[in-house]
Amino acid sequence: MPARTRRTLANMIEHGFTSHARCPKCDRSCEVDLRALMAKAGPDYSLWNRRCRCRFTPGCPGWIRFKVGPGWYVPDYDEPTEERWMADEYREQLERDPALRAAVEKLRRTR
Ligand SMILES: [Zn+2]
Repeated sequence: MPARTRRTLANMIEHGFTSHARCPKCDRSCEVDLRALMAKAGPDYSLWNRRCRCRFTPGCPGWIRFKVGPGWYVPDYDEPTEERWMADEYREQLERDPALRAAVEKLRRTR
């Protein structure tokens, strides 16, 4: 088990870990206020394998991902979860973008 991830909020705060939130779509990021989040979500809440809708940019369709610091940051999610998110986000993108959908359909037909 990686030492930095899979921790509850209370445990992260106790051991001095930090969390960095970034939206890959609009490329904005911030440090998560773990204490404020704990006040809302409770000490046993964990950011492990969680993502949330972008709150940086109004209307941004991106999903925020979390990394654990400080110093060197590691993803607060595992590979199967990331693969699932990527597949979800690709499907969402296709639904939003008729031109992309048409291009993919065309590619499928010509292969
Ligand atoms: Zn965003």
